[in-house]
Amino acid sequence: MVKRNYLNRSLADGIRQVGFRKWYERELMSSHAHMLLALLCTIALMATLELFQGGTLAEKLVDVVLFIISGAVGLWALRRYLYLLLHAETVADQANCPKCAEYGRLDVVEEDRRSGQVLVRCRKCGEPWTLIP
Ligand SMILES: [Zn+2]
Repeated sequence: MVKRNYLNRSLADGIRQVGFRKWYERELMSSHAHMLLALLCTIALMATLELFQGGTLAEKLVDVVLFIISGAVGLWALRRYLYLLLHAETVADQANCPKCAEYGRLDVVEEDRRSGQVLVRCRKCGEPWTLIP
């Protein structure tokens, strides 16, 4: 069973609501926003290391807490970035119609929620095929 992603809508829901190309574009924008967050967390990590050299014990404890929070958020953001990017690219590699090679012009026919596979149909020639996330 495919793990449900609660932060982004499912592949089938996304294609139904905005179409494949917009879904793909939004997944890429979301993934790159997470990359930016990971970069900002890296800067925060370096800043907390810089601040750790001076200050009182209380300030050093605050620095340690901020370091841990920045590290945790940064790792989460990096993981989300890689997941969203690889998921979008994996699906995009399958978005060519097997019959007429039209790219990204497809409609959702059926979704298998257990496996995450989505049966789609080409808008140009009507050929059905399955997208495997
Ligand atoms: Zn086609």
